[in-house]
Amino acid sequence: MRILVLLAIGLLLYIIIGNLLRKSRKYPSTGTSSERMVRCEHCGLHIVEKEALQDNRQYFCSTDHLEAHRQSR
Ligand SMILES: [Zn+2]
Repeated sequence: MRILVLLAIGLLLYIIIGNLLRKSRKYPSTGTSSERMVRCEHCGLHIVEKEALQDNRQYFCSTDHLEAHRQSR
């Protein structure tokens, strides 16, 4: 059982370190201009522009919020 716990901890560390490495590698190559943050018009959540849904110059975090905002108008 103890080996399983150690494996789980090892896997967790591997994932965390992998994420950190990916993040730090991303910064110098892409720069900050392409990582522009926009605000969801519906819930106010901040998302990366390229991952946001755009409609009529407004940004949304998900299709649900895009639809909800359209219907509220
Ligand atoms: Zn939203």
